[in-house]
Amino acid sequence: MTKVGFIGLGRMGHGMAGRYLDAGFSVAVWNRSQAKAEDLIARGARWASSPADAADGADAVVTMVADDEASRAVWLRKDGAAATMKPGSLAIECSTVSHQHALDMAGELRGRGLVYIDCPVTGLPQAAASGKLTLLVGAEPADLVSATPFLVPIGDVVRHFGAVGTGTVFKLINNLMGAVQIASLAEGVAMAEQAGLDMKLVAEALATGAVASPQVIRHAKRMVARDFAGASFTSALRYKDAAYAVRLAESLLAEPPLVGQAAVEAYANAKAEMPDDDEGRMIELVSRPK
Ligand code: NAP
Repeated sequence: MTKVGFIGLGRMGHGMAGRYLDAGFSVAVWNRSQAKAEDLIARGARWASSPADAADGADAVVTMVADDEASRAVWLRKDGAAATMKPGSLAIECSTVSHQHALDMAGELRGRGLVYIDCPVTGLPQAAASGKLTLLVGAEPADLVSATPFLVPIGDVVRHFGAVGTGTVFKLINNLMGAVQIASLAEGVAMAEQAGLDMKLVAEALATGAVASPQVIRHAKRMVARDFAGASFTSALRYKDAAYAVRLAESLLAEPPLVGQAAVEAYANAKAEMPDDDEGRMIELVSRPK
């Protein structure tokens, strides 16, 4: 039976790990806090005592953790996954990390005889639990072929951007643009409220007009209604992605990424006040009347 070590059972990782169980893989799971693994264990996953234990004997290890710091820890700490992985086995990074981190991890793990690909994802936790994520891959073509059996259970669209790191480049661009749209939407909704507009009409007009991106459609009605139940993507994660993206932009562009920097600032405020709440709740920060 094909063996997967799955590390990081948060909103996204929990559903993804379940997909490997449904697809008939032998799955070992590790999460910093064990409680999130209980139902997966009941479904047949093996609880691993460390990332290294999860990786022991695995054909591929998949990580879905918060950020660079968490990723470095689960791959490289003393009892990290790299300590026990078989030579030639696959290290699949689904976490959204910085571009430099993806390159550093690829170098570190390649130096240990492993194959690292970056495979950040788009899609909400419901998509993760139903195998309908879009996978943004950076990998050598042959490595993508080897990784494909491990991508099929979790994603229904694979976009291969090129060598290692390129999936992360695209993911950061995508999420910075999302940050700009949501932060701008919050200010637009706040202005409409203070000007006394009919907010039902405003929400409908925003969600059907020329600025109606999927992010605007998703957040307009929720911001107007202040309905943020069941956070799926938090302010802390949005801030992290936007900050990584701006750092990347600064390394690529002659001019400072002014719009992106403004979105980072907006999300720094949201992270400071409501880190674990839904990212759309930042409307509450910008809607105070003058
Ligand atoms: P989450 O629910 O906050 O889960 C974060 C995971 O990282 C948890 O398993 C957490 O462990 C672990 N973690 C955090 N710090 C750690 C550390 N220092 N050492 C070890 N483990 C650590 O986040 P999520 O929404 O699942 O997001 C996971 C990744 O997917 C992030 O990179 C995010 O940007 C990306 N993403 C999220 C979405 C979304 O809609 N939510 C969509 C696309 C991509 P504990 O459970 O012990 O806290």
